[in-house]
Amino acid sequence: MRIAIIGGGVGGTTLAFQLRKQDKEAEIYIIEASEHTEYSPCSMPYTISNEELGLDDIYIFNDEDYANNNIKLIKNTRVEDIFPDKKKLKLRTNSTTSELFYDKLVIATGGHPFIPPIKGLDKVEYSAFTNIDNTKEVLDKLADNKRYAIIGAGFIGVEVAHSLAEKGKTVSLIEAKDSILPSILDKDMAGLIQEHLKEDINIQLEAKIKEIKENLIILDNKTIDYDSLIITTGIRASKDIADKAGIETDKGILIDENGQTSQEDIYALGDCSQLRDAKIQPAQLASVATIQAEALSKTLLGEETEFPKPTNVSITKIRDIFVASVGRNSQQIKDRAISGKYSGKTKEDFIPDAKNISIKILTNMEGRLLGAQIIGEEEVLGRIDVFSLAFQKGMDIYDIANAETAYHPFCAPIFDPMVLAAKNAIRKLEFLKTRKKDH
Ligand SMILES: Cc1cc2nc3c(=O)[nH]c(=O)nc-3n(C[C@H](O)[C@H](O)[C@H](O)COP(=O)(O)OP(=O)(O)OC[C@H]3O[C@@H](n4cnc5c(N)ncnc54)[C@H](O)[C@@H]3O)c2cc1C
Repeated sequence: MRIAIIGGGVGGTTLAFQLRKQDKEAEIYIIEASEHTEYSPCSMPYTISNEELGLDDIYIFNDEDYANNNIKLIKNTRVEDIFPDKKKLKLRTNSTTSELFYDKLVIATGGHPFIPPIKGLDKVEYSAFTNIDNTKEVLDKLADNKRYAIIGAGFIGVEVAHSLAEKGKTVSLIEAKDSILPSILDKDMAGLIQEHLKEDINIQLEAKIKEIKENLIILDNKTIDYDSLIITTGIRASKDIADKAGIETDKGILIDENGQTSQEDIYALGDCSQLRDAKIQPAQLASVATIQAEALSKTLLGEETEFPKPTNVSITKIRDIFVASVGRNSQQIKDRAISGKYSGKTKEDFIPDAKNISIKILTNMEGRLLGAQIIGEEEVLGRIDVFSLAFQKGMDIYDIANAETAYHPFCAPIFDPMVLAAKNAIRKLEFLKTRKKDH
């Protein structure tokens, strides 16, 4: 059997190596438009300020790894067309075209930067920060530029802004919404991290950009000078080849829970895909692409395996603070959400190096866990992963409030902050239920 994978990024490469682990015979092809083997996009923002981490260090695999696993990686080659009825691809390498037949095809083309329609943007130079090539462009010009303007305060924008500030640059971070990281954090939680960031970043919230000129951004109430402009306003699914081939798409390539598209023997995963009829769409994350690849490897080899229910758990590190979330935030929950919050220490209060941690849990009136957000100086990852598992397994906040958690004064307080946040949510919930009964 020949399996062709379009796109050698996180999802496509994980899939290829997973397939090879389970099947020594299958012919596995990856067709990749760029000159790169798989690398870690998630590390790119940190290459700005971390002297010990260069772009050359962030490759996950080299050419020999593919060859040793008998995975045929065709680099510098773009798939231009899919012909589903002939099970054939048209490839382009520079000015040469060729064909490749497949038995099963996986589209893992990722995403491309969304560039907002701002007046004047088409007349000025700017960079995106979505792949190793446009990141290199930013790094190559670091010495020449002092003032940076970044439009879009999502994950990537905030990470890049913080790294540039650490590098000693003057940084303005411009966001249309009223808080940073608006797709993962509630405004009150975002406020905690903004407090730290605003010491060395000029954060402009609810910003309305009227026009961009060479080295100048004109907002409705002020202007911002810059030497270099970076746009980080989101990623859109790369789905053109699917559209051309008549494969059903919406915002992404539509797939069912097994990764199957509207065409037989054609699958998709990762940033380019969209789960049909899903209440919660999987986020555009490496973690999501990876678990989807693992599941799809089994399906392709005949053991139908559904993609795990997305929890969209994520974490980032900004300065010395970890920011993590799972599920939805208040703005994304349509029905009424009740929150429970707790701010305290990561160890017993009397331990000198105990660090701050804040947790917010969101639930509905039935106590179902809808989302959680954590901001803390340590021990954030383990806790958000507990929430992710609880979310995936459909646990409620009573389960979390009753969790038995490990205790040692140097490791955690006797009542874990997760448990206390859940108890606070329950207190509110019970109060609201009693009030409802009384009326
Ligand atoms: C700066 C940055 C930081 C991030 N940080 C995190 C993080 O901390 N945690 C996290 O979970 N996620 C993070 N992400 C997101 C994560 O990198 C993506 O979700 C993940 O890479 C998606 O994997 P993918 O395989 O779908 O797409 P990609 O990894 O983008 O791979 C798609 C590949 O397809 C190739 N391609 C496209 N079209 C064609 C074609 N027609 N023919 C051949 N090849 C083609 C592209 O060249 C590309 O190599 C970050 C992303 C960025 C940009």
